[in-house]
Amino acid sequence: MSPASKKADVLVEAAREVGATQMQNMGTIGGNIGTASPAGDTIPALYVLNAVIELSSIDSTRLVPIEEFFNGPGKTVLKQNEMITKIIIQPQGENEIGIFQKLGPRKAQSISIVNVAISLIMDQGRQCLGAKVAYGSVAPTIIRARKCEALLSNNCLTEELIQNIAKIAWKEVMPITDVRATATYRRDMASALLERGLYRLMRRWENR
Ligand SMILES: Cc1cc2nc3c(=O)[nH]c(=O)nc-3n(C[C@H](O)[C@H](O)[C@H](O)COP(=O)(O)OP(=O)(O)OC[C@H]3O[C@@H](n4cnc5c(N)ncnc54)[C@H](O)[C@@H]3O)c2cc1C
Repeated sequence: MSPASKKADVLVEAAREVGATQMQNMGTIGGNIGTASPAGDTIPALYVLNAVIELSSIDSTRLVPIEEFFNGPGKTVLKQNEMITKIIIQPQGENEIGIFQKLGPRKAQSISIVNVAISLIMDQGRQCLGAKVAYGSVAPTIIRARKCEALLSNNCLTEELIQNIAKIAWKEVMPITDVRATATYRRDMASALLERGLYRLMRRWENR
């Protein structure tokens, strides 16, 4: 990953999972947010990066934290005369590390069955000082997994902790059954993706 990509690693990974090459060349993050799909791939990454959305009309501009932008599937606080004109994120610090994990029905051009973005603030060892976890496709909008975050924060990132957090995630998500997957399968995969993501982050942090 280039030094610039490390300033928003989780968003870089999420953007690489949207559709396929054509989509990534022509589509925009504004369009991904504007679609307001609970399965939108860049949105969980923007949640864990604390993104703020600038909405502009001819007369005014306002800033909305990303978590307050969505009202439900396809529904946002965007007024008829407004559009997204900026997506503002703070660059990640040296001790922040993130990852995006997606499960779709195939490798490309696939809407997420479940996706998860994770961002951790680490100390020099394995101690996690702060954590953000955001899930897609498990609720009417993207959700933060706050119980998982609380368990991760101020704890040492061990295999035992990761396995416990994966069990908490199973209970914390609120998926439905639809054409892409059953609710139970989504719960299982939400748990598995978080577990896999945290193991990968642990290894990346050790090998950085
Ligand atoms: C084959 C296919 C595969 C796809 N795969 C994925 C996937 O893997 N992951 C994923 O997340 N999505 C996927 N999508 C959904 C979508 O194409 C992407 O989310 C893409 O990012 C949309 O960007 P766009 O610029 O083309 O938006 P558009 O299609 O032009 O717009 C989408 C919506 O957002 C609104 N909008 C666009 N820009 C703004 C703005 N600046 N301000 C306010 N509203 C705005 C539009 O009015 C419209 O309602 C897929 C779509 C297709 C057709």
